[in-house]
Amino acid sequence: MPKKFYRVKPAWVRLMSKRVVDPSSGCWIFTGGRIKDYGAFYYEGRNHYAHRWIYARVVGPIPEGYEVDHLCKNPPCFNPEHLEAVTQYENNMRSDSKTARMKRQTECLRGHPLSGHNLMLVKSGPGRAPARVCRTCKNESYKAFRRRPKSPVVAEPSFDEQSRLLPPGARRSTRRTSE
Ligand SMILES: [Zn+2]
Ligand SMILES: [Zn+2]
Repeated sequence: MPKKFYRVKPAWVRLMSKRVVDPSSGCWIFTGGRIKDYGAFYYEGRNHYAHRWIYARVVGPIPEGYEVDHLCKNPPCFNPEHLEAVTQYENNMRSDSKTARMKRQTECLRGHPLSGHNLMLVKSGPGRAPARVCRTCKNESYKAFRRRPKSPVVAEPSFDEQSRLLPPGARRSTRRTSE
């Protein structure tokens, strides 16, 4: 049986062979396999995200805890010029997640400014960014809570009334029986 020889292409050549340039955006679209919409690039025995792989080689090492963000908002793109290493927090803020939208909010739901004295930062748990709360709305809801209709006060039945409610055998006596 003839021995097969495979020519191992250099990683760069392999990566570039999976590239299609979008002329309008300049994005380098990865045409190979994908992981969560990102290009999956096999290198040295494991899969790498294509954009992270190229970033680390063209721009520089990705600092610990940093994510490589797509400035073009195009996950399969691996054009180094469209990439930027940012903290996860910053990346989330740039994205359209609910938290991000809340962070960008300059007004509360009722149109009060979320700035200056009206903005309250409330602790929301360890390792989490503080919640932004509108002071006016918070005070309003507190006042509304105090104005809430009170439930009618039901008087506790007296000892005699309680005794009458008990079955006859269990009736408690106020008199001590003496021997
Ligand atoms: Zn791009
Ligand atoms: Zn408000």
